[in-house]
Amino acid sequence: MALGEFDLIQKYFTRPTPGAVLGVGDDCALLQPRVGMQWAISTDMLVEGRHFLATVRPERLGHKALAVNLSDLAACGAKPVAFTLALALPRVDEVFLAGLAQGLFSLADEHGIELVGGDTTAGPLNLCITVFGEVPPGQALRRDGAQAGDALWVSHPLGGGVGDARLALEVFRGHVSLPGEDFEAVRRAMEQPQPRVALGLGLRGLATAAIDTSDGLLGDLGHVLRRSGVGAVIEVAALPISPALARQPRAQQLQCALAGGDDYELLFTVPHAAARQVMAAAAAAGVGVRCIGRIEAAPGLRLLDAQGAELVLSLRGFDHFSDAVGPA
Ligand code: ADP
Ligand code: MG
Repeated sequence: MALGEFDLIQKYFTRPTPGAVLGVGDDCALLQPRVGMQWAISTDMLVEGRHFLATVRPERLGHKALAVNLSDLAACGAKPVAFTLALALPRVDEVFLAGLAQGLFSLADEHGIELVGGDTTAGPLNLCITVFGEVPPGQALRRDGAQAGDALWVSHPLGGGVGDARLALEVFRGHVSLPGEDFEAVRRAMEQPQPRVALGLGLRGLATAAIDTSDGLLGDLGHVLRRSGVGAVIEVAALPISPALARQPRAQQLQCALAGGDDYELLFTVPHAAARQVMAAAAAAGVGVRCIGRIEAAPGLRLLDAQGAELVLSLRGFDHFSDAVGPA
């Protein structure tokens, strides 16, 4: 490596860490949880060719690697505090490293979160981040609390929808072609997801269950239903669809929105009477939310069309062992 391992860490990944007792440079970082808080901890790994394409701009890769991790904290209603970064690099490319660090730290600064340690090695490009967040005991949003009668909601970008990241992937795969503006919009959704941290915090004490959508809405909802021991109905006409996706055939819209993956939106359940509070939490977070269905006692997942008739679709979520590139 042109630049030595320790110089590289010093130059690109060492920042002041006033929130930590001890940051980068020792054998361990030291973190002091605030009084009365629990740590929420999550790890996500991004592998080239599996979770991102070699063509991605390094700034966007740095952003996405942290964003997918922050999305897990959001889904638990945890407040981000710190993270570690394990990095394998095929070579020392300073243009790449500068871009990566820029994308990573600009999102970190937005959320007031500090890089406190990591590991750096030569090898096939791979980024693995662990995030630490704090949450008061008993207040973490979990997958196992959905109750029959709850309303089912999903977040979405203001003026946008779910499924855009999958549409972008279909373009990269050569299955779909889009006008330039639509492509830029969906590519941004794929490469620069915005973790719904503020919404997750706003849903504490309100949501009975929550998950972030990384593998496709239906597949992720399935996790909530299984953990909670309930079923659900989705009113397909209520799904938020972006203008770009709305210009695609309806079957493509549903495939992307229901089984697309890589959205990093929050899918959550709340008591039926809490709709106004959900809208207020979303408005405060600057995020769109839509009620797309309800939880029922009978197990299984039913899709209804605008007339209330049951829809039978052959959709599937993302499978890391059969798809070439997909979500973290
Ligand atoms: P050790 O060999 O004791 O595990 P390393 O030599 O791997 O430590 O790392 C030296 C210091 O640099 C440690 O504090 C480690 O946490 C930090 N570090 C290594 N790689 C990174 C990175 N990519 N980002 C942030 N900190 C890192
Ligand atoms: Mg080490």
